[in-house]
Amino acid sequence: MSEITPKSILIVEDERAIAETILFALETEGFQGERVGTAREALRALEERKFDLAILDIGLPDQSGLELCRSIRKSSQIPLFFLTARSEEIDRVIGLEMGADDYIAKPFSPRELTARIKALFRRMDGVNPGAPGEKSKSPFRVEEEFARIRFLNAPLELTATEFRLLRLLARRPGRVYSRSEILEAISDHPDMSLDRTIDSHVKFLRAKLKKVDPDHEWIVTHRGFGYALAEG
Ligand code: CA
Repeated sequence: MSEITPKSILIVEDERAIAETILFALETEGFQGERVGTAREALRALEERKFDLAILDIGLPDQSGLELCRSIRKSSQIPLFFLTARSEEIDRVIGLEMGADDYIAKPFSPRELTARIKALFRRMDGVNPGAPGEKSKSPFRVEEEFARIRFLNAPLELTATEFRLLRLLARRPGRVYSRSEILEAISDHPDMSLDRTIDSHVKFLRAKLKKVDPDHEWIVTHRGFGYALAEG
């Protein structure tokens, strides 16, 4: 279905110039876009028509994108992509588990935005991250049966926790995992652990990756939020 029907995307952004740029970039990529400038219009559009994704600016004139997100989530699981103007907002966007699927901070390039949106659709269309082609570029290979991860073809010597942590991050390079998601994935008793623990596991894991590839930072810190694996 996704082959023939263009994905339709609602853009909720009050700054016309930005909205037009986004619209143009999306249409160039074969998406169908519609622009509204207020939260009220957005809710009405979502009620009346079907969209595959909504891009929400956080600073809207009638209410914040976060409030709008809350209203949308009452009745819809539509994927949401946030535009944030300040990096502090990022914590709130995902840290509060607003149900954001991804975000980008302003200023951004239209090309980066469309690349992220295409990646988001690929994830949602259930492309198996282990599928050939999609993941063959990744330097990480998870060998579940041996509880082992190869990095640039070298088997890493990982603790069980590091294995779980890296396996999680490697699932979707570029995707930011919040501390609570990481905690849940790595620990047997999530309630026993502290955020600080994650930082130390990340530190040790980084050191092990650096041994194999000294010139590249593979684990990216998203301050106040969590970590992601570099996309290469
Ligand atoms: Ca705005």
